[in-house]
Amino acid sequence: MQAQCLCKGIVLDFTPVPDFCSHCHCKTCQKFTGSAFATWIKAKKDDFQILQGTDRVSMFETSPGSKWFFCGTCGSSLFQRYDLTRDPSEHTYICLAMLVEEHDFHPTKNAYWDTHQPWLDGIESLGKFVGHTNQKIQ
Ligand SMILES: [Zn+2]
Ligand SMILES: [Zn+2]
Repeated sequence: MQAQCLCKGIVLDFTPVPDFCSHCHCKTCQKFTGSAFATWIKAKKDDFQILQGTDRVSMFETSPGSKWFFCGTCGSSLFQRYDLTRDPSEHTYICLAMLVEEHDFHPTKNAYWDTHQPWLDGIESLGKFVGHTNQKIQ
């Protein structure tokens, strides 16, 4: 599968582990994405490569060995990984929203719900609209 940032300068190519898809509501994921939570899938080290735009990839290390990668041109959040010392399984976590193709991943859990943003509560009951219009979706 492929993932792409907003400016399309970076293209990731990977084969995801089929049984993992999770929201994460930790404070770091919130800051990394500028949103209430991040949604992740993951791929093994040998099944992940940066196909295009390596020169645009920027990285921020939140704590020793915890690396967060984003596009230095458009700022899109792309992927996260731990050093070998912290994650011997060597997975790369990829932001689900960046996938290019249609897919049928559905998150199976809310990790770090203990730090979720309270303004997320009740989101399902809010009015749903087409774009920024007043046209309601039932
Ligand atoms: Zn970009
Ligand atoms: Zn997180």
